[in-house]
Amino acid sequence: MEADSSFLESVNKMFIRAAQVLELSPGLTEHIKECSSVYEVRFPVRIDGDYKVFRGWRASHSEHKLPVKGGIRYAPTVDQQEIEALAALMSYKCSVVDVPFGGAKGGLCIDPSQYSREELKRITAAFAEELINKDYINPATNVPAPDMGTGPMEMSWMADTYRKLNPTDINAAACVTGKPLDMGGIDGRVEATGRGVFYGLVEFFSHPDDVEEAGLSGSLKDKRIVIQGFGNVGYYAARFLQQEEGAKIIAIIKSDGALHDEEGLDVDAVKAHIEETGGLKGYSADYVADGLSLMEIECDILIPAALEAQITTENAGRIRANIIAEAANGPVTYEADLILHAAGKTVIPDLYLNAGGVTVSYFEWSRNISHMKLGRMDRQIQQRRLDASITLMEQMSRKKVDDKQRQALLRYQSDELNLVRSGLEDTMRSSYKAIRMVKNNHHEVPDLRTAAYVYAVEKIAHYYREYAVHL
Ligand code: NAD
Repeated sequence: MEADSSFLESVNKMFIRAAQVLELSPGLTEHIKECSSVYEVRFPVRIDGDYKVFRGWRASHSEHKLPVKGGIRYAPTVDQQEIEALAALMSYKCSVVDVPFGGAKGGLCIDPSQYSREELKRITAAFAEELINKDYINPATNVPAPDMGTGPMEMSWMADTYRKLNPTDINAAACVTGKPLDMGGIDGRVEATGRGVFYGLVEFFSHPDDVEEAGLSGSLKDKRIVIQGFGNVGYYAARFLQQEEGAKIIAIIKSDGALHDEEGLDVDAVKAHIEETGGLKGYSADYVADGLSLMEIECDILIPAALEAQITTENAGRIRANIIAEAANGPVTYEADLILHAAGKTVIPDLYLNAGGVTVSYFEWSRNISHMKLGRMDRQIQQRRLDASITLMEQMSRKKVDDKQRQALLRYQSDELNLVRSGLEDTMRSSYKAIRMVKNNHHEVPDLRTAAYVYAVEKIAHYYREYAVHL
């Protein structure tokens, strides 16, 4: 059996497959593949009366558009290669969903659960200061966001550090995205990646040919879904699939074990149990200690939403799901991807499916630059237009519009959350259509992953071929 490529090798091999389809020159292939720059820092923070030295990275991949954009990950396993792989994926991801950013990623080698909130605040501020001093955080050139192990709180600490160091920068709030609402964040960013996964699957199921090719039929209703990882991305994806499309979440896998119930788990009840007890144990008799084996059970859709390299040459042959929906970054190695393809599985690839986060980050960044909340200018006009329409309807039908009907009409008002969801849905739907068109129109493109890479890389290559004056 062929050994698995590392995460970085996998991303590069997937990219090269697309570069060959596009017949890019060797030089341009090399230029796009590699990170433009990687900055490694070591910095001390005083903890328990002594200094503890931390190690972190920020990688900037393709700078064909600025700022470069990508999350900052806190995990004990983070290393430079992983950050470079994630930065490359960000370039391709932004290109797939037409978000006008280059790609970047950052990481800090740390187990956040080992530190108090106060310590994490000081560690984050120190890391941010190192990056800000070298312009690796900057609203015009390099804008982080949350990723594994980080969330709105870490982003607020980074934004505050930037603001203190750059008090005259009018766009300081745009230096990171995924901030809390009262720090310049945007409604709908926390749920965005999971919601994007949801819209991506809804769009996939609106194409009967694609559904049939995956060996399935019908809609998402009652489809049996296994989800690995129940953090930010996994929870929201599972929640919307269950609550809005009636899918059955039959297994939830976390690092401390898993739950398996063929009748479908109540996603919000599981989440409440985790918040109360810290884990899955004790939720019900459906608890299974060996979570990883549940990835191999029979189901319609498997959603890896935890880490990279979860489906490898070791277990790919045993995956029974028809569709593997990559909510995580790099959950399938290059070699495992070939095995899944040979077995007739459909993989909906990470660079498309989890792009909801960066899409809404783009909305947040634009809102920070414009200094105005979305919908603020036209909300009253919309309200009056709606009131006038209702009055007209009542006059014409000689019937009163009741409160329930009025509420239904109000659901589509342009408040910030509705606007964000609308922009995200539009992005995920139109990007999927573009990818499937590439797949269907090019006989040398075997699957959705290669199609997404071809679609993304062609746009980046076009910039370098046509517009870059320094090349
Ligand atoms: P998170 O830290 O909120 O959650 C991670 C989840 O994975 C947790 O439930 C954890 O228990 C679980 N997990 C960790 N190791 C595991 C293991 N070995 N087996 C099973 N479960 C395990 O992280 P997140 O933000 O939800 O990110 C998840 C994935 O999605 C990552 O690959 C990340 O890069 C990707 N992603 C995140 C975003 C975002 O906006 N947060 C955007 C795009 C992609």
